[in-house]
Amino acid sequence: MRFASLGSGSRGNACVVESGTTRVLLDCGFSVSEIDRRLAPLGLAGADLDAILVTHEHGDHLAGAARLSRRYGLPVWLTAGTLAASRDTGYHRVEIFHAHDVFEIGDLQLHPFPVPHDAREPAQFVFSDGDRRFGQLTDTGSITPHIERMLAGLDALVLECNYEPELLRRGPYPPALKVRVGGDYGHLGNDQAAVLLERLDKTRLNWLVGAHVSEKNNTPEHARMALVAGMGCDDDRIEVAAQDEGIGWRSV
Ligand SMILES: [Zn+2]
Ligand SMILES: [Zn+2]
Repeated sequence: MRFASLGSGSRGNACVVESGTTRVLLDCGFSVSEIDRRLAPLGLAGADLDAILVTHEHGDHLAGAARLSRRYGLPVWLTAGTLAASRDTGYHRVEIFHAHDVFEIGDLQLHPFPVPHDAREPAQFVFSDGDRRFGQLTDTGSITPHIERMLAGLDALVLECNYEPELLRRGPYPPALKVRVGGDYGHLGNDQAAVLLERLDKTRLNWLVGAHVSEKNNTPEHARMALVAGMGCDDDRIEVAAQDEGIGWRSV
């Protein structure tokens, strides 16, 4: 199994996960042309994808999903709540998953889990190929015991580092938005990401990628420092995905 990030942040998120002959796009917050452009350096085109998996209805995760699914005839997997909250429901084909039920797409096994975020029915995922496990946790305002259980013992993790608390406090957002972002149903701060990492079983963790890093309330350096603190060590396995530049293929 391997994964790559096409870019991550409040202006769009997308990630590819591949196992065997199966390739899934995890979130589609970019336009069709942008997805094509960002897939090219990975040696892929839109037609190489088998499915689109959507975590929740916010535009930075869903904006391009319906159009991409029509363009390439791809099924879109989402929760009933995400479907109900979708603005453009012209999906080529809809597949509903339940946020507590395991399901399969080709060679990939998906273990979704619910997260506290201000969306209708948001979920994040652990992917398994039967041997290795890759997880993503973004767009969560807080950490639940269930999230901790799901992410224990992973081989690779994409983890939200949305804001540095002090930078959010001093930053340009209006007060209501600061409360939303920093709240229990908003986004994960650097400090929360570090605490989660400290608690997790990381013995198998080969890759750790900071994601959904705010360009206004955080810096890649602050995010990386938090990941290093949470890991208790600093090495090349720790990376930060940016809005315009993702992360190339990483074998899990
Ligand atoms: Zn988001
Ligand atoms: Zn969101």
